[in-house]
Amino acid sequence: MYDYIFCGGGLSTLLLLHEMNDQLIDKKTLVIDNDEYKNNPYLSYWSDEPTIFDEFRIASWNKVQCSGRRPDSTDPYTIGLLKKEELLNSIRKTLDNFPITWSSAKVQQIKSSEKTCKVYTDAGVEKAKLVFDSCVDIRPLFPDPKESIVLSGYELLVESDSEVFDDNTAKFYIQLPKTGTFGYMLPLSKKIALLESASFQPRLDNNDRKMLLQYLVKTYPKARFRLTHEQLGMIPLGFPPPRLSGSRHILIGQKRGLVKISAGYGIMSILRESKRIAAILADGKIPKPVRIQDRRYQIMDRYFLKLVRDNPNKADRIIRRSLQKQSITTNFALIDETLQTTKLAYTMIKSLPFLF
Ligand SMILES: Cc1cc2nc3c(=O)[nH]c(=O)nc-3n(C[C@H](O)[C@H](O)[C@H](O)COP(=O)(O)OP(=O)(O)OC[C@H]3O[C@@H](n4cnc5c(N)ncnc54)[C@H](O)[C@@H]3O)c2cc1C
Repeated sequence: MYDYIFCGGGLSTLLLLHEMNDQLIDKKTLVIDNDEYKNNPYLSYWSDEPTIFDEFRIASWNKVQCSGRRPDSTDPYTIGLLKKEELLNSIRKTLDNFPITWSSAKVQQIKSSEKTCKVYTDAGVEKAKLVFDSCVDIRPLFPDPKESIVLSGYELLVESDSEVFDDNTAKFYIQLPKTGTFGYMLPLSKKIALLESASFQPRLDNNDRKMLLQYLVKTYPKARFRLTHEQLGMIPLGFPPPRLSGSRHILIGQKRGLVKISAGYGIMSILRESKRIAAILADGKIPKPVRIQDRRYQIMDRYFLKLVRDNPNKADRIIRRSLQKQSITTNFALIDETLQTTKLAYTMIKSLPFLF
């Protein structure tokens, strides 16, 4: 019998273990991961305070240029980019001295009763007082198949033969020829940049690669580019599943509803929620199985999700208008859910008249 079982050993599990730290000393903990879903090497984030992510940054920016606008300062936020594996490996090393068992198995089912929770895997059954679940492929599934929507994108790492990029400025919302799809670019140096596309659609689209390359050639006609990495990726978006197997089955990570529906961003909200959950556990209490989202933002996200499903082009236009009409810091606060009610209402009004 374990005190804690973590199903899935990705970002949310490691951040929570890191936050729990000393609480783990006298506890028996099991982490189960089948290593199947390691699909995104780079993670970008923004923050207006120092975070654990900063020491893993391979680049950072204090200015953002959105299509058709002059570069805008991100102050007090800094945007950073890190390599996911470096972060995870480093956190894992800090946990070496704790009584944690790391198991490579596939979780198949979780069943919670009043006092314990059972985890069924392809290697047997384990029991714990509390189970933390970040496995999107087991019940309750995430996203709910009825609400399923993905943010898909193509990622290119390019190297130029000359110094063409402004490495202080991230470019957000690069207009691409396919409707409902936009690009963004994070220059790692004057010669190297990460270029990505993003679109809300239920399938992955390989054509984005061509559009991104055309953008590079058109924008920097004198340079020649070499591709050093490319990848197609997709982020499932949605609300946390409403039905769980019981109160000892706690969802974490994207399954807890921590990836923002309008942006696909997650690591900062996962970090904030890890701190909150660790504090609740330190008080000897059991955290709520899912995140309780601020009602105003829940209404907004539900509306956005519906719009993405019914008319992805309109959703794309809302994002474009919001980035063009408001400062980048307002956009960050909107995604972080930290805007005051009056500013939130004003922001919504500014984004909508164009459409209806
Ligand atoms: C392509 C892509 C790009 C992204 N870019 C960004 C970004 O730039 N910035 C940002 O903030 N967020 C980004 N995200 C979102 C971010 O990756 C997630 O928010 C974060 O990784 C979620 O953490 P998690 O623990 O929920 O999931 P993960 O980190 O994916 O961890 C889940 C773990 O569970 C394991 N697992 C799953 N099912 C089972 C099972 N049945 N049995 C055993 N193990 C299982 C997997 O192997 C995995 O290790 C991106 C996501 C994707 C897919």
